[in-house]
Amino acid sequence: MTPIIVVLAAPSGGGKTTIARALVTRWPERYGFSVSATTRAPRQGERDGEDYFFLSKDEFRRRQAASELLEWAEYAGELYGTLKAEVDRVLGAGQHVLLDIEVQGARQVRKRYPPPASRAVFILPPSAAELLRRLQGRRTESPPEMAKRRATAIRELRQAETFDHVVVNDNLDTAVTTVHKLVETPEAAPRAKLEPERTEHIRALIAELTNKTKEIS
Ligand code: ADP
Ligand code: 5GP
Repeated sequence: MTPIIVVLAAPSGGGKTTIARALVTRWPERYGFSVSATTRAPRQGERDGEDYFFLSKDEFRRRQAASELLEWAEYAGELYGTLKAEVDRVLGAGQHVLLDIEVQGARQVRKRYPPPASRAVFILPPSAAELLRRLQGRRTESPPEMAKRRATAIRELRQAETFDHVVVNDNLDTAVTTVHKLVETPEAAPRAKLEPERTEHIRALIAELTNKTKEIS
């Protein structure tokens, strides 16, 4: 197999981390996870070097200046970036590299690794209500942080159609299998146009999330 870069993006709570972990668990020889750098504080249970490399803002800026980052972005007031060394480590092991990143970073990766070297998958929640349930159920963000993530989610959903594939994460197993098939099927080339029902699903999510955000605030 030729290893590629698999970009997974989704609104916060959409399930990209869960799907990336499941791909590595199910096919450990085929997938490796690129551990990103971030300036945000670790959540309970997160470990440095496993979930993220947790850096100070100064250290992050130093690595940026030293061209150690493949891409980077600011998200909810914190910096996040993909380390070139991580991508090279996984590709060097002959595995597909999973990048769980937000949409600005996804765009930068696509420039550096245009298809077929990369494949970009946008993960959608089944509904806005379910997205908020999952995000709240994770219990990792304070109410102001959640508000930032909801606003960002709306902006990110507007970019979903620019991705090669859009996958709904309703049943987790189905979503994981679907992503795996997209990655491993050579003829699943970047699509020309999104199916009308997916476009409609994205439109409905944006409308529902906008309404719910107004209700909450
Ligand atoms: P993201 O990385 O996109 O922010 P996570 O992977 O952290 O999202 O998922 C958010 C929450 O939703 C987690 O608590 C996770 O366990 C849960 N979750 C993810 N996928 C599903 C699914 N298909 N069904 C139910 N819960 C899910
Ligand atoms: P979280 O704080 O929930 O772990 O991540 C917040 C957002 O940052 C998510 O959308 C996540 O995908 C994104 N993210 C994580 N690592 C990176 C990275 O290396 N680069 C970019 N651009 N985004 C990242």
